[in-house]
Amino acid sequence: MIKVENLHKSFGKLEVLKNISTSIKEGEVVAIIGPSGSGKSTFLRCMNLLEEPTSGHIFVKGEDVTSKKTNIMKVRQNLGMVFQHFHLFPHKSVLENLTYAPVSVKGVSKKDAEAKAMDLLEKVGLLEKANEYPSRLSGGQKQRVAIARALAMDPEVMLFDEPTSALDPEMVKEVLEVMKSLAHTGMTMAIVTHEMGFAREVADRVLFLDNGMLVEDSPPQEFFTAPKSERAKVFLEKML
Ligand code: ADP
Ligand code: MG
Repeated sequence: MIKVENLHKSFGKLEVLKNISTSIKEGEVVAIIGPSGSGKSTFLRCMNLLEEPTSGHIFVKGEDVTSKKTNIMKVRQNLGMVFQHFHLFPHKSVLENLTYAPVSVKGVSKKDAEAKAMDLLEKVGLLEKANEYPSRLSGGQKQRVAIARALAMDPEVMLFDEPTSALDPEMVKEVLEVMKSLAHTGMTMAIVTHEMGFAREVADRVLFLDNGMLVEDSPPQEFFTAPKSERAKVFLEKML
């Protein structure tokens, strides 16, 4: 589904991603783990072209999205993104948050977009909040709306950047549950997270980034019980 080849990203003189190569298969759930500042968000943002790679290639279903000819909007439509701080439209209702892009970007009819939105809201357990505004929702509810909104575009891949890091502890679980059931539907997912238990349980693979380098790329049982690198060992000792 996604193939990353020799990806480099610099901001001015600061080299943030250093020669990253990996791939994500259809239906695979990949957890991206690493210390703060290691390049996790930048890596995710390069995948949907919120950042322009400095060099290297990213292929989505065989298409080189780093090519100049790429339609960036099309790529982004195919890769749903969920952020730490939700980024909902504050002046739109929950339902409008879900229908806005399908109607205005994809040209879906309002009726069809609403039917799909209601279906998704039911899946994330928020049907009764359809006409509510984001300011009246809890953090966990906002994040579930953000997930439903991303899914409303029918993406083939979902990217999550620390989706539970801004939540009060009691709301983390409800969001992780939604992500877990999404994983069980066969969705291809890349998730930056500090939730080690979740990564261990749900991910098929763990990518460990440190200082812009992909230090480990292994199944969770291997990564969590026998990390190969000293850096991952030190990181895990702090986290667990
Ligand atoms: P992580 O998500 O792992 O915490 P980031 O990808 O956000 O790491 O950041 C990696 C490094 O890149 C950090 O040193 C950060 O300060 C820097 N960085 C990120 N975005 C920008 C930007 N737009 N301009 C300059 N530096 C940036
Ligand atoms: Mg980050």
